[in-house]
Amino acid sequence: MTAAVKSRSMLVDIVPVGEVSPRVKREASAVLRSVYDCDVTVHDDQAVPDTAYDDGRGQYRAEDLIEVVSRVGGGEKNIGITPRDLYYRRRNYVFGLAYLNGSGSVISTHRLRTSSDGGVSTKPAIDVFADRVRKEVVHEVGHTLGLEHCDNSKCVMSFSPTVREVDVKEENLCGTCSRLVR
Ligand SMILES: [Zn+2]
Ligand SMILES: [Zn+2]
Repeated sequence: MTAAVKSRSMLVDIVPVGEVSPRVKREASAVLRSVYDCDVTVHDDQAVPDTAYDDGRGQYRAEDLIEVVSRVGGGEKNIGITPRDLYYRRRNYVFGLAYLNGSGSVISTHRLRTSSDGGVSTKPAIDVFADRVRKEVVHEVGHTLGLEHCDNSKCVMSFSPTVREVDVKEENLCGTCSRLVR
């Protein structure tokens, strides 16, 4: 048999929650295709749910956004992208959240714009921001594919509490993580 039998690839739906720029959508689509070799669609923009807002903190509950993303997303995996600032339980803020092996996840671009933690890159700020978006999208989808945090600081699955760790890591899975999702 010489006919190439390509198994149907996974579909990841990107769900913008709030106003997300065309460039962010484009970067997210491109990196998911390149790292996971999946199909990617971009969903219609969704309104940010008022009920997810915590008045006292001035932030949005990450779990509530995942709930929206899982409900409206049309993919096997659905990743929300929002410009709003997210928190999760006792953490002051999160760049993103996903449940291990779940279908939905979310990232916030809010704190990825900061350069205050001292960037390790000499690129223009707009490109540093785009790189961070790419890494966080790959990271959260990685969790939904069953990947946990990786000890390799260059691996996209390494835990990054501040933008410094985000800047240190690369947008790809290390060899070990990569074998786990193949
Ligand atoms: Zn993580
Ligand atoms: Zn890894």
